[in-house]
Amino acid sequence: MTPAALVLLSFLRMDAHTGRVLERQWRDGRAVDSGSLAKPFIALAYAQSHQFRYPEIMCARCWLPRGHGKIGIREAIAQSCNTYFDALRAALGPGELDAVARRFGLRGAGKARPEELLGAYIELSRRAGEPGVDDILEGMRLAARSGTAKRLARDALAKTGTAPCTHVPKAPGDGFVVVLYPAVQPRVALLVRLHGRPGSYAAAEAARLLQ
Ligand SMILES: [Zn+2]
Repeated sequence: MTPAALVLLSFLRMDAHTGRVLERQWRDGRAVDSGSLAKPFIALAYAQSHQFRYPEIMCARCWLPRGHGKIGIREAIAQSCNTYFDALRAALGPGELDAVARRFGLRGAGKARPEELLGAYIELSRRAGEPGVDDILEGMRLAARSGTAKRLARDALAKTGTAPCTHVPKAPGDGFVVVLYPAVQPRVALLVRLHGRPGSYAAAEAARLLQ
């Protein structure tokens, strides 16, 4: 791999039990736009003020031009449906999302440092069994099986995202994936950023890093 190619891939590996950083290849320590990686926390904020019941929504148009059709929480996480989470977010009161984000160690739902973002997902996996959480974790398992992170090709919990590129020269977007592996009682937590490629490609890089 050439030095120029190395810069394209950033990753952070943490112990999913202790939250300790095991490996870090992330040149800039700057906060990243959490983008679609904030969706699980949007879902929890919604659940909290709606008796922990998630709606089904009709997605007629999305990042997938034909839309996702009638979609519930698990598929919405697995397919990272923008329409679904826009609707949930619109139903939130002021400050509700930031309050949930802070409970997971984030400063807010906007930007987060890589360690904070991955730590929030570790915390999410630890809260399995709490109201509203299991549907999200099932959605993440589905993402790895047949959704946006299927290039992982493993039984894992995963969520992809795309965020505005912070590199020079600038690409349209950087792809992200969070992986907790294995799916049941995860040991490893991985955050991967891939310059100028969608999150589904970041999942392929994550698969390589998990080998
Ligand atoms: Zn959609």
